[in-house]
Amino acid sequence: MATQDRRDMPQAIWKEEDLVGGRKVRALVVILRTVGCWWSRKKGCLMCGYNQAASEAGIGEPELMRQLDVARARLDGEEMVKIYTSGSFLDEREVPKAVRDRVFQDFSSCSTILFESRPEFVTEESLVSLPAEKVEVALGLESGNDLVLRECINKGFRVQDYIRAASLIKQRGMRVRTYLLLKPPYLTERQALEDTVASIRLASAYSDSVSVNPVNVQRDTIVESLFRRGDYRPPWLWSLVEALRTRRELGGVRVFSSPSGAGTPRGAHNCGKCDAAVIAAVERFSFSQDLQDLEGLECECRARWRAQLELQDHMRTSVDLDRHLADDLGLD
Ligand code: SF4
Ligand SMILES: [Zn+2]
Repeated sequence: MATQDRRDMPQAIWKEEDLVGGRKVRALVVILRTVGCWWSRKKGCLMCGYNQAASEAGIGEPELMRQLDVARARLDGEEMVKIYTSGSFLDEREVPKAVRDRVFQDFSSCSTILFESRPEFVTEESLVSLPAEKVEVALGLESGNDLVLRECINKGFRVQDYIRAASLIKQRGMRVRTYLLLKPPYLTERQALEDTVASIRLASAYSDSVSVNPVNVQRDTIVESLFRRGDYRPPWLWSLVEALRTRRELGGVRVFSSPSGAGTPRGAHNCGKCDAAVIAAVERFSFSQDLQDLEGLECECRARWRAQLELQDHMRTSVDLDRHLADDLGLD
């Protein structure tokens, strides 16, 4: 395919289910191919491989308009559309205003239009012309702790920036979905779990829904180099289950997860035997919000996970103990 053609095509389009006002609806998901996230080009978050995957030089308004033609043609009565750019929909350099306006025209039949943005692009001006009742803004907070944001993620903004942006979105009558990252590098399993639980509590004050995203090791990232050396293990699915249980404290805020790469070595995983059952439970809970869906999950690896919560802290290390121990013992 010629380069020009690629630029006219969204990076990906698929359909999935989501919740709107507590109701399961069909959603069209569109990943626009853009010049990419400005922060990714400058320094970038440690776990982010989006720049390599998504960004293309020279994608401007005409190319994005043609991508929207393709996306619009796939709409088939879905109530929700999610427009991702692997960056910020509200960054004019990535998505010019005319393209944004076109999104709201093209998908005006949808009751919810979700897009993602870094907080610095959430301003009075960028929100003013949007149809508030339809808009849901996804903010990638990752962690509610400034130290973790700076040292473990390199996020390039502070918690206060998120709070400002989320508060403004709410004041304008729009919805907020906050993304959190379970287990950034350099944290032990316990620290990661505690960080996500504390972050869910913080984000729930500013959000309609909170999505917990376990790290999925992406190519050519710092996290990948740690992973290759055995110095990083993606989170256990048990940690994800534990984090989701925070839902019981939160009133009406939805807490959910659709963990990408789950059950594989690069994604959140357990022992391999119980992964499918735990992932299925997480999926059920994500829609039902019924904590019972997370009960009754058992496997012998749960005790190993519990032991590691203690052991890594005692040893003051965040390395992948399972892998190092297996190497030392000559196991696979
Ligand atoms: S803000 Fe998002 S897209 Fe940009 S570098 Fe960080 S994770 Fe990647
Ligand atoms: Zn297991």
